[in-house]
Amino acid sequence: MSNSILVVGGGFSGLTAAIEAAEVGYEVYIVEKTPFLGGRVAQLNKYFPKLCPPSCGLEIQFQRIKKNPRIKFFTQAEVTAVSGDAGNYTVKVHIEPRGTVPSSADLSLLASSLESDVDNEFELGLAKRKPLYMSVPFAFPSRFVLDKAALSRADELKVGKSAFCDMNEAPRDIELNVGSIVVATGWKPYDVTKLSNLGAGAFANCVSNMQLERLASASGPTGGQIKRPSDGKAPKKVAFVQCAGSRDQNHLNYCSYICCMASLKQALYVREQYPDAEVTVYYIDLRTPGRYDKFLRKVKADEKIALVKGKVAGVEEDAATGDVIVEVEDAVKGEKRKHRYDLVVLATGMQPSLAGQKLPFDVPVDEEGFIVGGEEKGIFAAGCAQKPLDVMRTAQSGTSAALKAIQTVRGR
Ligand code: SF4
Repeated sequence: MSNSILVVGGGFSGLTAAIEAAEVGYEVYIVEKTPFLGGRVAQLNKYFPKLCPPSCGLEIQFQRIKKNPRIKFFTQAEVTAVSGDAGNYTVKVHIEPRGTVPSSADLSLLASSLESDVDNEFELGLAKRKPLYMSVPFAFPSRFVLDKAALSRADELKVGKSAFCDMNEAPRDIELNVGSIVVATGWKPYDVTKLSNLGAGAFANCVSNMQLERLASASGPTGGQIKRPSDGKAPKKVAFVQCAGSRDQNHLNYCSYICCMASLKQALYVREQYPDAEVTVYYIDLRTPGRYDKFLRKVKADEKIALVKGKVAGVEEDAATGDVIVEVEDAVKGEKRKHRYDLVVLATGMQPSLAGQKLPFDVPVDEEGFIVGGEEKGIFAAGCAQKPLDVMRTAQSGTSAALKAIQTVRGR
């Protein structure tokens, strides 16, 4: 029997679950598949309810982890197999090499001297990174990562001479014994390239809502200036297309919960940067639950933001200018019209990260990939592994999962 708790996923809900359990005396392991903790929240410019930058919440969580010897975390790690029962699980974890020695040494000079450039996953296709990188704001752990596969031959020679890099580090497989498991594997933006009628992935100035977060973020590829990806111009006319992929039986057959609020927030990002810019939000229904209605009233009070009930039928590009033409059916006026914009933002839906994958735990999932059970086995879903949630509710869900995990290990 084990009193330890495994948390799979180092995003906001996983961190919350781990910290809550560790701070009342339980040993916790976090297994995170990327090189850094923080998850999707780290990519945001601001988040509800207070519209603070992600550093507010995440840096506090990272400090709590640093101070707590009961939390051990593994990055670039994935659970490969789970066996046993509630109270006594054996968990196999595969860990990829980080390729750098344990040190917080600043390797940015070496990194910038490398010749290879690869897509920066964190910037969602909007920027490149070097094969030696720590290109995540307030990165935790604060240690560079070596992407060996991306090194050129000349890069290999340079990196091989550094005392801080380890080209020979091998992958490891470890085993953990835990009493309960919190699955906080989070979400991914729906693959916008499947929305072929909306121009996603095809037109440079048609971006997803998460890409707009990176364009608006001071740590992002434009230093926080919202610019058109095609030519770097300031957009003067911006459209938001709601339910891009959500509430559609050919894509995500549910409401993604966050994307109405995300677009209203992002409309204000644009207006704060460009006082003469005009913003139009095309929606089917505007969902602003509970106290978020107050935020909607604030947005409505801005006369340069138009909220138009209408379904976007298609998006085209004017190849000569890079402008995006949106064809929309105005549901109130009953008109079908085309409008030209400098930039179009797709309010892309939220899909569970593990959708379509075989899970290493025996828990039921619904047809969309959200975890809908497993509690009787001492396995508890938290955050967006369970359903679409905003950051505040995902933290509450992490706390709730921690309590249930504690009840499981104490009850045995
Ligand atoms: Fe559509 Fe709004 Fe629901 Fe997102 S939150 S799926 S944009 S109704």
